[in-house]
Amino acid sequence: MADPSSSPDPRRRRGLLIVLSSPSGAGKTTISHMLREADPEITMSVSATTRPMRPGEVDKVDYHFVDDAGFQSMIDDGDFAEWAYVFDHRYGTPKAPIKAALKDGRDILFDIDWQGTQQLEAGMGEDLVSIFILPPSMKELDRRLHARGTDRDDVIAERMRRAASEIGHWAEYDYVLINEDMDRCLAEVEAIVAAERLKRTRQPGLVAFVRELVERP
Ligand code: 5GP
Repeated sequence: MADPSSSPDPRRRRGLLIVLSSPSGAGKTTISHMLREADPEITMSVSATTRPMRPGEVDKVDYHFVDDAGFQSMIDDGDFAEWAYVFDHRYGTPKAPIKAALKDGRDILFDIDWQGTQQLEAGMGEDLVSIFILPPSMKELDRRLHARGTDRDDVIAERMRRAASEIGHWAEYDYVLINEDMDRCLAEVEAIVAAERLKRTRQPGLVAFVRELVERP
């Protein structure tokens, strides 16, 4: 029998970069909160943005809220893994936490748009899993944006216009879900994450584990 104390850890794995994209109001923010609450191995990537803070948001928790000059100097310093204009403001994903998480075998969740997903995919395709969440209907999307009560009517109208163009990118994603029911959608995201973690290529510890398995029965 193999001595378990000297066995390599078969569960050692590479971290996973999980991208969740959807038009605003499709439930992505709620799903990502629920996912992290249920799974402590997942941390959230905190983006930087030049958009104003909404009521209830906390600096450095929801976003790093910076002004245009601050954002520009982060670009100039090469701090972003990706950045893009969304709704006339700039949003960017800091590079440093990604490197640290991949190295430590932790998973990071990204709430970014299709532009950011394309850029991340180009830079770190193999470690990335992309999920797109569709609303059940445009009427329901409009209802959810109004129910949220955080944006003015003209901002909501603009978000509805942009939703159609965001949805146009659904086919660029690995997985596509329809969020009719929040609990079901969460269970689907959890199933995707569980399966992706078990991919052979994400489990480098298996090579040594299986070698011991057969060589030291
Ligand atoms: P909100 O202003 O509602 O928080 O976000 C607006 C949009 O910006 C959402 O679709 C969100 O996914 C996207 N977004 C947030 N952070 C980033 C980021 O760092 N990069 C990119 N490309 N998009 C982001």
